[in-house]
Amino acid sequence: MYQYRRRLTREVAFGDMFLGGYQPIRVESMTNTHTMDTAATVVQCRKLYEAGCEIIRLTVPTEKDAENLRNIRDQLRRDGIDTPLVADIHFSARAALKALEFVENIRINPGNYATQQKFSSSDYTAEEYLKELEHVREAFTPLVEKARHYGVSMRIGTNHGSLSDRIVSRYGNSPEGMVEAALEFARICEELGYHDILFSMKSSNVRVMIQSYRLLVEKGDAELRYAYPLHLGVTEAGDGDEGRVKSAMGIGALLEDGLGDTIRVSLTEDPVNEVPVGFAIVKKYNDFHLVQGDRGHVPLKHLVESRNKQATQKLTPHQLPPFDPFSYKRRVTSPITLAEIAVGGDNLPRVETEVSISLSARDAIFEEVVQRLALQKPKDAIRSEFVSVRLNDAAELDALDALLCKLGDAGRSLVVSTGDISLFSRLLNKVSKVRLDIIEGEMLGKDFLKDLDNNRLAAVELCFIHEHAGIAAPAAVLAHIAEKLHKRGVERLLFSVMTNQTVFAYRRVVQAFNSRSLTYPLMVRYSGRASGRLEGLVDSSIQAGTLFCDGIGDLLALHTALSFEDEVNLAFNILQGARVRMTKTEFISCPGCGRTYFELEKAVTAIKERTAHLKGLKIGIMGCIVNGPGEMADADFGYVGAGKNRISLYVGRECVEENISELDAVDRLIGLIRERGKWVDAN
Ligand code: SF4
Repeated sequence: MYQYRRRLTREVAFGDMFLGGYQPIRVESMTNTHTMDTAATVVQCRKLYEAGCEIIRLTVPTEKDAENLRNIRDQLRRDGIDTPLVADIHFSARAALKALEFVENIRINPGNYATQQKFSSSDYTAEEYLKELEHVREAFTPLVEKARHYGVSMRIGTNHGSLSDRIVSRYGNSPEGMVEAALEFARICEELGYHDILFSMKSSNVRVMIQSYRLLVEKGDAELRYAYPLHLGVTEAGDGDEGRVKSAMGIGALLEDGLGDTIRVSLTEDPVNEVPVGFAIVKKYNDFHLVQGDRGHVPLKHLVESRNKQATQKLTPHQLPPFDPFSYKRRVTSPITLAEIAVGGDNLPRVETEVSISLSARDAIFEEVVQRLALQKPKDAIRSEFVSVRLNDAAELDALDALLCKLGDAGRSLVVSTGDISLFSRLLNKVSKVRLDIIEGEMLGKDFLKDLDNNRLAAVELCFIHEHAGIAAPAAVLAHIAEKLHKRGVERLLFSVMTNQTVFAYRRVVQAFNSRSLTYPLMVRYSGRASGRLEGLVDSSIQAGTLFCDGIGDLLALHTALSFEDEVNLAFNILQGARVRMTKTEFISCPGCGRTYFELEKAVTAIKERTAHLKGLKIGIMGCIVNGPGEMADADFGYVGAGKNRISLYVGRECVEENISELDAVDRLIGLIRERGKWVDAN
């Protein structure tokens, strides 16, 4: 939890390729063509191969599709494309048995493979439950035997929202249920002596996804013979920046924990677009292993020994995570007020951005602040709620006064930062928040304490500027100062670290604060200069998003090379992705696959255009009726493919309009939202 270390897993073969162990974290994608359409599927596989995709998955709804995998595989191999293929199976055991003759890996969904009996309530006997489990074993065993015979590995891929009703009736639609569903199948594999397995635990809710994978590792590693590899992914992440942010947050949070051996970014876009996002996510972690020189195959003996060692190791209180890794609970903080806005406590996390223009460029900085605060825009426009400017020397104080005067009331949202302690006291009675930078842990003198005693107006943020010091330094220094100020009764304080190792730095700060019962709010700052827009978006989402998913953070500021608009949108996307602050409609849309028979991407665009302003509403847009209704999970309204150019509409889990024409469906969806009283006009 406090420094990067990858979990050592058993290596699993995908044909000639291995994943897990010391192998690089692989990047996968999935075709969205119909698997019976050999030509289109081969073309898309070739595009994915050319984009660098390392594993390609294809949907296999029927035995006929399974049979056609032979043609697709043969054509690809003739073309010199040797990328491992994965057959994606839901429901059909017959399709699974046929498909594994032509692929390197097979994915089954424990939620719908070999399920027989309906368990609609908890009203069943233990005997009935066991009988159903016995049926699962009987139906699953031939697949395991055949997979072993063909040397095909298997992913036990659980999805939140498509659990069997037997599991839901006992465990609920929860991480516990997802984990138990996977373990039931894994136990059968192990009993049959088949160990070429890996797991996934996907959800469109990033927090549920993170918690489920962690729980699986906790339970699976304690019970199973080996630590098996993990395939990571956020399902139904959507498209555009939102889809990329959600995927990076969920996958990245687990990679930071050292979990994950292969990933898929699911976007409702051309699958080729998923590949660069995947590589942007895994790059840092794969580079880390290159530097460490970890390569080659992991001997099984080594794997068992390392697991046994881990199992007997008792964690000291300092090694325990400073939050519950398996369920969400926001860190308890004492709220403070900034410019009449309460932050910390149960209040919504706020967004701040930093202006890099010098205060002496008076007109330019005024214009910039006006833009960032969106002073001339409608009230509900996306804006930076606080804007910080930099005071470098006393000569700029006049310019600061002039700026505050020109801003009038809006000047309350201005934050001034300085690294000069001699300027600090002169700022305290001018603005509502002052940020004092502590450069690499320099100590603050007695004058500073006196200044704080005399401070009446400003909240003070103490920010550790982390550059060369070890990652433990910010926590040690900030906790020391915070404790001292707490004893002195100073309340209107918040703390931060300016770093690109945000996850580990802040976890350490929280750990240090918790151990001293300090409840000051934390301003999450991420500072990175990534090489491109995508890299900046991905790294910010991982570093800041992980913390908010674990309940850490009361304000957010990103310091990136992105434009201001991008940066603010990214900050709000991160907060929305972590479900800690909803500022727009939440779209849960699947990437589509061979089960999709309508224009999914077009539908997503049309629905987004008309409903993106419905703050807090969740709309699921799903490619098929087979998996869509379950996997759109907690959506308020659903738009689900029901057949060729036909759509079914849902309110919650209830189908209210069945099989209507694609041409009318978006209008009907809007009608439904109106009828249910959830519509507001766009401003
Ligand atoms: S929900 Fe979407 S991705 Fe999943 S099976 Fe259906 S069409 Fe394919």
